[in-house]
Amino acid sequence: NYNFSAGPSALPVDVLKQAQEELLDWHGLGLSIMEMSHRSREFVSVAEEAEQDLRDLMQIPDNYKVLFMQGGASSQFSMIPMNLLRGKKTADYINTGDWSKKAIKEASRYCDVNVIATSEENNFTSAPRQEELKLSPDAAYLHYTPNETIRGVEFDYIPETGDVPLVADLSSNILSRPIDVSRFGMIYAGAQKNIGPAGLTVVIVREDLLGDTLPGTPSLYDYKMTADAGSMVNTPPTYGWYLAGLVFKWLKAQGGVEAISEINRRKAEKLYAAIDENPFYSNPVAHNVRSWMNVPFILDNADLDKQFLVEAEALGLLNLPGHRSVGGMRASIYNAVPEAGVDALIAFMQDFSQRHG
Ligand code: PLP
Repeated sequence: NYNFSAGPSALPVDVLKQAQEELLDWHGLGLSIMEMSHRSREFVSVAEEAEQDLRDLMQIPDNYKVLFMQGGASSQFSMIPMNLLRGKKTADYINTGDWSKKAIKEASRYCDVNVIATSEENNFTSAPRQEELKLSPDAAYLHYTPNETIRGVEFDYIPETGDVPLVADLSSNILSRPIDVSRFGMIYAGAQKNIGPAGLTVVIVREDLLGDTLPGTPSLYDYKMTADAGSMVNTPPTYGWYLAGLVFKWLKAQGGVEAISEINRRKAEKLYAAIDENPFYSNPVAHNVRSWMNVPFILDNADLDKQFLVEAEALGLLNLPGHRSVGGMRASIYNAVPEAGVDALIAFMQDFSQRHG
């Protein structure tokens, strides 16, 4: 089977197998890692190794803290203003779709949000260009969503913001291709696409931005307190953290982010080509910002949607319906979806269109 779910999504089979092998008896200790104290020497070493592997994979500079938090990416929508306003009253946001909008809505509860650019006028099928980004003079930060998971729009550049910290929701494209972490004030990602189980949330934040939170910020939402406590202010999601560590090791074994990005590029290019070359299918997103991770497409004849999904599922091509807000299809092809999965999907799409076109 191939799992094209947008999230929680496919995990590498080798990781699941290793987790299964280790489930009852972790490294001969006679108990599961799930049953161990987060303060035990064993778990702390698992946790530290996961952080180091992520640092290696993303080449995270030393002046950035890596936090393993919980609550999903959505909880960051409120933690970001709480931690990063730092006495200012305004934050800039770019609106490129559904997740941007949610981040904006939540931030609006804490500050004046300036939406400095949006692609709403063309139904979120593009991304604003750098020239269109007019930063507010007093903005505490600029937030954007480099990859909009639902409509499959991925920025093809990193916004230039001068001294204003850039904040990025990398939930659906973290670890999919190399990025220069030093360009960002903060990066965050819910784990359930390219990292591990849902709930765990990775935050990468520049040290100098820490320590000036909005009054009333809960301790658990305070990045500095979290960093000072090694992400163990309270009991962390230990099993998710462990699994994330296995995924990082797996990714290293694949050759790291550079190597997987070549595979991701090929997977995306051939799937978009299969869509573009066949009048039976279409994708409305501007070519320069088509996501490598989430590929939405519609059938020329929407009456065949159900049939398409039933036949796909019978072939083990799972979870292809588009997001409930947009309909159609969406193939999410994260790191753990092998190229053979994309080939199988393309073969099925061609066959289906020949029989029904
Ligand atoms: N941001 C993006 C880009 C997403 O794709 C998602 C989706 O699942 C979220 C935020 C929300 O994540 P969570 O459900 O972990 O809060």
